[in-house]
Amino acid sequence: MEYQIYQLEKEKKFEATCLRCGNCCGAQDDPCMHLVIQPHGEYFCDIYDSRGGVQKTRSGKFFECVSIRDILHEDWSGNWNCAYKKQNNIIT
Ligand code: SF4
Ligand code: SF4
Repeated sequence: MEYQIYQLEKEKKFEATCLRCGNCCGAQDDPCMHLVIQPHGEYFCDIYDSRGGVQKTRSGKFFECVSIRDILHEDWSGNWNCAYKKQNNIIT
């Protein structure tokens, strides 16, 4: 039980690091259909709890939605700004 609480806290902290810039979901070029912008400029995923797997961009391209942990060493538009890349000193 204590371990589960520890894991949940760890995950919460990890999630809180995200800037909600939406860049890893295509905000700067061809956004995922599930990427939604909020009035104050932050983005969110409207299917976050079931996001993994094949998804579609606004222009109709299919792609695989994976955890940010799996793409940290890859490039995407605006990736220089990603909080996880900065936190892990990853320069691509
Ligand atoms: S489904 Fe994946 S790529 Fe699409 S908005 Fe959600 S997290 Fe981003
Ligand atoms: S690019 Fe990084 S900081 Fe921006 S939404 Fe994606 S995970 Fe969060």
